[in-house]
Amino acid sequence: MKQRTPRRSKGEQRARALLEQTASASGESFFPALVRGLAQALGTRFAVVAMVRGEDELECLAFWDGKRVTRGARYRLSETPCGVAAAEGYCELNDGVPAKYPNAAMLIELGVRGYVGHAIHSQDGRLLGVLVAMHDAPLPASARDRALLQSSATRAGLELAQMRSSAALEASEALTRGILESMRDAILVVRTDGTVAFHNGAACELFQTDAHGLSRASISQLLPDLERAAAELGEGDAAETYRRRANLELAAALKSGETVHVAVTIGVFRLAGEELRTVVLRNIERRRREEQRLRGYARALERANSDLERARRKAERAAAAKTEFLANMSHEIRTPMTAILGFTDILMEDGGVATATERLEALRTIRRNGAYLLEILNDILDFSKIEANRLEIESLPCSPRRIVSDVAELLRPRAADKGIALKLDLDAQVPERLLSDPVRLRQILLNLIGNAVKFTSAGHVAIRLRFDSLDQTLEIDVEDTGIGIAPDVLAQIFEPFRQGDSSMTRRFGGTGLGLAITKRLVERLGGAITATSVVSGGSTFRVRLPAQSAEGDASDDPDTPSTGGFRAALRELRAHGKVLVVEDGPDNQRVIRHVLERAGYEVSVAENGLVGVELALAAADEGTPFVVVLMDVQMPVLDGYAATRQLRDHGYTAPIIALTAHALPSERQRCIEAGCDAFATKPIERLALLETIAQHTSKAAGG
Ligand code: ADP
Repeated sequence: MKQRTPRRSKGEQRARALLEQTASASGESFFPALVRGLAQALGTRFAVVAMVRGEDELECLAFWDGKRVTRGARYRLSETPCGVAAAEGYCELNDGVPAKYPNAAMLIELGVRGYVGHAIHSQDGRLLGVLVAMHDAPLPASARDRALLQSSATRAGLELAQMRSSAALEASEALTRGILESMRDAILVVRTDGTVAFHNGAACELFQTDAHGLSRASISQLLPDLERAAAELGEGDAAETYRRRANLELAAALKSGETVHVAVTIGVFRLAGEELRTVVLRNIERRRREEQRLRGYARALERANSDLERARRKAERAAAAKTEFLANMSHEIRTPMTAILGFTDILMEDGGVATATERLEALRTIRRNGAYLLEILNDILDFSKIEANRLEIESLPCSPRRIVSDVAELLRPRAADKGIALKLDLDAQVPERLLSDPVRLRQILLNLIGNAVKFTSAGHVAIRLRFDSLDQTLEIDVEDTGIGIAPDVLAQIFEPFRQGDSSMTRRFGGTGLGLAITKRLVERLGGAITATSVVSGGSTFRVRLPAQSAEGDASDDPDTPSTGGFRAALRELRAHGKVLVVEDGPDNQRVIRHVLERAGYEVSVAENGLVGVELALAAADEGTPFVVVLMDVQMPVLDGYAATRQLRDHGYTAPIIALTAHALPSERQRCIEAGCDAFATKPIERLALLETIAQHTSKAAGG
């Protein structure tokens, strides 16, 4: 096709054909139709539509070579007449293209000689590309050709703009999709009627459902509390909460029926006149569980901390109280000591006491103070035993009425001295005999009644005893009309070493251990103690103790004999015979010898267990046996246990009575196991000792 075909005859026809072909084409098919139609209409061999790619590059969207359409080739704008067409809007070269554009390899190869090209612009005048017709022979373009080219370029401009914008749209859609799908947060877009307009994949994962399930769900199913929470947060205006892009924490309802906790951010936007709400959700179930666990730890830590703090404060209080206690104690011990030593000096002085009455008074003072010292010592020992959990409790038949009466009688002189009445109210319901620990019961009563008398200067001290047969409980009230106890002191009164205040100690004396011991004793007996008090109005201490009735129990009454009992026992004592006292302390030897000799016994003394064994066996051998051996337990050379055992091993059968400072049942047990018949306590209680000896010597004589 060297010669351009005459076209005037067919020109119009072809132009119409071009219009028709391109009119029906669009999108992908438009550019191939355009180049083919253009070549036909202008009668050229080649036609090209190319798009601007970069600064100096064009890319063929469609290239017609006379047989077919190809695309994709790229070439330089400046190396071809297209550069002129692009810059000036139009370029026409009748002939001689190779000479003018020696670098346009493609044109030379194709054998192009004539060229006519038109720039393609967007509606806003941006250069989009070029539309070109080329021929392998000279190409004289007519005005009609130019018009056709121009109108085709305009049309191509529209198509190209369209193509570009839809590509851009596609790209931006892909971008949006990519962003939304790559997110870990679940995203829902919700219409005003609550239906889900859009969701991402994370939303399907969160709600454990598929796209179909989500698109049919309504937000009120997925987040049942959302609207209420949004309304609450917006103070009745949920829309406001959406506008504020609020954060909420809610329960999301899964397809399985389970719920998980989610953190939700809500928002709102308008699209094509419609208001849409965004709901972005993140599963915080794990975080919540973690938080709960941490809160648990934190609480446990706080508890442990406050326990520690309490323990620390308690220890501090205890330490402070102990220091105070030691100070009190040394004061407490010094006071009776001063009296004892002072009066002893007076007695030893020549003419220190003038009359027998004065002498007796001095001795009474020494005795009273000695007894008080012993009381202090016992308190301390008791308390340390309780603290070390070594206090032994017994359950024996005993008469609570008698114990109460005895203690009351013991303290009555003290009360009478102060001019206060000591009233007893013993309910008839109280059984004659109950199972309890008589020694401890006595100790409790002594403390409470002793305190009541101590802290009362006018009025009365009343002791009431009742028995609740339903729950087998003994109830003891000790009521006084004394100074009373301030509420803050009352709260600490059962703590060891606590006294009302330090001025109290100076006024009333005492170690501050009494109530601490009492409380622990009551508790060890299975009971409880409470105190109520009115400052200046008096106090009431109430003890409730479980105590089974022992009515009909035939066992011996181990109660300490009442004062009356002692006297009767003493009257009946017919003391005679030889007694061996095995005791290492010279002072104790003297005291015991004195007591026994006054009672009518003949006394031999051995200074340790070994000597004791020898003397006892020798006397028996000589046919002048001792009626009883009093055996101290702790001694040098051979202690009381071993000495007793040796005697028994030698067939010694006379009574042996152990002397021990410890009145513990375990201690008694040890003595009995060693072979003793009984025991008496140190310091020596005269009457009790004589009674015990009398009991065993008469038994031995009778049996
Ligand atoms: P103390 O040996 O010092 O009496 P307690 O433990 O028996 O020790 O008593 C502690 C403190 O409780 C006393 O110092 C006193 O302040 C107060 N108290 C105890 N009983 C009474 C009471 N009946 N009336 C007033 N105060 C009392």
